[in-house]
Amino acid sequence: MTHAYDDTNIFAKILRGEIPNDTVLETEHSLAFRDITPKAAVHVLVIPKGAYVTYDHFAREASNAQIADFTRAIAEVCRREGLEEGGYRLISNAGEAGLQEVPHMHVHILGGQALGPLLAG
Ligand code: AMP
Repeated sequence: MTHAYDDTNIFAKILRGEIPNDTVLETEHSLAFRDITPKAAVHVLVIPKGAYVTYDHFAREASNAQIADFTRAIAEVCRREGLEEGGYRLISNAGEAGLQEVPHMHVHILGGQALGPLLAG
């Protein structure tokens, strides 16, 4: 997969403050905000502030500090949203097969209800 980053994507605009977002958590290297079209009672997106396209791009090229910050941001969102006890699901769509809509790496945190099977159909 190629990792050419296009900074006109909507999450880059959110990071530049050009469009609003419903922030749940901001850390040095990461931002978590509510998905605009929630698919579950709790649906939060966590993104790195750096210019990474997919999870594999981020995991290969981000610094250890960025990766640690991102991983801990996910844990903190789970805590703040009360998901630790009832459980949750993390999803990171990548590329064509993953039907990735926004080409800035993100992890979906879904929870607050029974989520059903991993894949429909
Ligand atoms: P995907 O790239 O397929 O993993 O999904 C991108 C997600 O971004 C979708 O769930 C959208 O609802 C969400 N989304 C798109 N634009 C915004 C926005 N401005 N604020 C919050 N979430 C958004």
